[in-house]
Amino acid sequence: MKAARNLVQSLQPQAITSPEDLLTAGFIPPDHLAAVTEASATLPVSITSHITGLIDPASPDGPVAKQFIPTGLENTKQDEELADPIGDIPHSPIAGIVHRYPDRVLLTPVLTCPVYCRFCFRREAVGDGLLALVELDAALDYIRNHSEIWEVILSGGDPLIMSPRRLTQIIDALDEIDHVAVIRIHTRVPVVDPKRITDSLVTALKRKTPVFIVLHCNHADEMVVEAEQAIATLVDNGFPMLSQSVLLKGINDDPDVMAALMKKLVSCRVKPYYLHHGDKAQGTSHFRTTIATGRAIIARLRGRLSGLCQPSYMLDIPGGHGKVPAAEAYLQVTDDSRWVVKDWQGNTHIYHD
Ligand code: SF4
Repeated sequence: MKAARNLVQSLQPQAITSPEDLLTAGFIPPDHLAAVTEASATLPVSITSHITGLIDPASPDGPVAKQFIPTGLENTKQDEELADPIGDIPHSPIAGIVHRYPDRVLLTPVLTCPVYCRFCFRREAVGDGLLALVELDAALDYIRNHSEIWEVILSGGDPLIMSPRRLTQIIDALDEIDHVAVIRIHTRVPVVDPKRITDSLVTALKRKTPVFIVLHCNHADEMVVEAEQAIATLVDNGFPMLSQSVLLKGINDDPDVMAALMKKLVSCRVKPYYLHHGDKAQGTSHFRTTIATGRAIIARLRGRLSGLCQPSYMLDIPGGHGKVPAAEAYLQVTDDSRWVVKDWQGNTHIYHD
């Protein structure tokens, strides 16, 4: 990958924002253009120059390329796939707020992302720009008026695509709400557009309220030196960092690939948090594995990797019923109240309560 990267860098990578750009860059052949154009009608095409610099046109199905270059497979929708796979809409009392769990809300001030991931679970919603100021004010009022909200999760879209000025306004407003004890930001920016992690951005985020940053990263090849430096800037400035990854067929559905990602994250001071089972978003079946595959990968990580490197494997129940752990249960109770415990090597033991 490094050799390929150097080769492509010498051609000065350009950002890509249309199917025609993909063709010009040599990332899709001419006979794919019509299908890719159809796919981009639902989820736009956007790939930062940083990411195009990581893609070798000779290997357009590499683990980074595959996440961002559309294919005609997105135009095939399965019956069980949903436009709103995790049920955001039924839990959205007003624009910009998703209130699914009692003590926390999602605040989505922006629906734009620097890249569009082809497996995105919000693929029907993202790409629409900024929440109008009047809607943002109403969303902040909603948080002010619900004293049970302990944590606000900025998501989207990618919140770190907003200007430091807009971020400052939002973080200031949240910082002033007494019952908001924690702010969490979900972002892909440090790995897809690391130059956005600037001193002004850090200043916009630093407040007395702790700000946790959850990095979306799916393969160790995304963790190049620029990404490592962006992460280091955030961690050095006191932001605790966690990760979330999506289990993706042909990208990271392999125990060794997943182990390499988790170890790389920890070595960059990012604690693996969630590994999401692929949501049933429309046109994404080519990315989804079975839960059995996910469980097998998690079982291989357990025992072989440090506890620091273990993510929780999570299934978001379709329809908006929330997340549940999807890994195999290692303890099961018997009829006579004994527990059968399976260890990391698959051996079973009895535990008396
Ligand atoms: S960055 Fe997140 S919200 Fe944006 S396209 Fe990727 S998965 Fe979807």
